[in-house]
Amino acid sequence: MPHPKFSVLAAALALGAVVAAGAVCAQEQVLNLYSARHYQTDENLYAGFTKQTGIRVNRIEAGDEAILERLRNEGANSPADVILLVDAARLWKAQVEGLFQPLKSPTLEARIPATLRGNDDGKGSQWFGISTRARVIVYNKAKVDAALVRNYEDLARPELKGRVCTRSGAHPYMLSLIGAMSEHLGEAQAEQWASGVVANFARKPRGGDTDQIRAVATGECGVALTNTYYLVRLMRSDKPADREAVERIGMVWPNQGSFGTHVNVSGAALARHAPHRENAVRFIEYLASDSAQAYLADGNNEWPVVGTVKLRNRELESLGAFKADTLPIASIGRAQIAASKIIDRTGWR
Ligand code: FE
Repeated sequence: MPHPKFSVLAAALALGAVVAAGAVCAQEQVLNLYSARHYQTDENLYAGFTKQTGIRVNRIEAGDEAILERLRNEGANSPADVILLVDAARLWKAQVEGLFQPLKSPTLEARIPATLRGNDDGKGSQWFGISTRARVIVYNKAKVDAALVRNYEDLARPELKGRVCTRSGAHPYMLSLIGAMSEHLGEAQAEQWASGVVANFARKPRGGDTDQIRAVATGECGVALTNTYYLVRLMRSDKPADREAVERIGMVWPNQGSFGTHVNVSGAALARHAPHRENAVRFIEYLASDSAQAYLADGNNEWPVVGTVKLRNRELESLGAFKADTLPIASIGRAQIAASKIIDRTGWR
């Protein structure tokens, strides 16, 4: 039996502990993140934020379209604080649908180049590119002469009849590229180019970027388009078959003699009804920090948006340096209206 006095003291201490725990609970710091990214290394990214700020990150991970649908359905009751999406076409669409809210942050403005930020709804709502990827041409080295495919325009050359593969033109990655072509060439000329590409199809568009790369490796397709990180993923794969596929492929940085290679982003935005606005702003600012930038980019073989952050990713670096298109990412997002018309009229589906 404990001494009676000790018991009272112990009870008082225990009560104190309960009260303190209650106070901690009431102030518990959380953040609700809706993310279309799902990479192993993103775990470290979120843990780093919690360690730094004490704010716990609740994650909902889903495909981009599923996230947008969920936000629409939840409306003003949405618990979402931060939204992570990939591709300017989707970010722009979410913005004009009113799913984001304004975010003025000197930190983000200082760290993320203006051309990689989207501010296009006239209400000051913004999204921020957090990593970049390029859309490149791959070709079968044994079957296609590299000199034939130096520019996106080349995909419409008659010499490539029956050799070109792409995923559906309706996919955001294609909408953004076709939109960029429309910005550069004008809508009419971009449409003419698109019909030339469609006339060159080796097969009806199907599958994702990795499927296009594999089909180029087998020779079913002569040339295709892919985002760089899919190619680097195969280069870094521990499956010998993946690396053998890469051996059979050449990669081209398109349009080095003109407007540069099309670049896109994955991006973050403050949700329209964010219940934890302050935490959300801290989180998005954290995404632009050196350590977060390294995790974000390297985890998916992308490039950081913050120029001073350096990666140690041998395979990604082996692709070399290139001239990137400097078209503002917001105008690429907006151009998907023209791109949609082009794919409808040319049957790029
Ligand atoms: Fe992707």
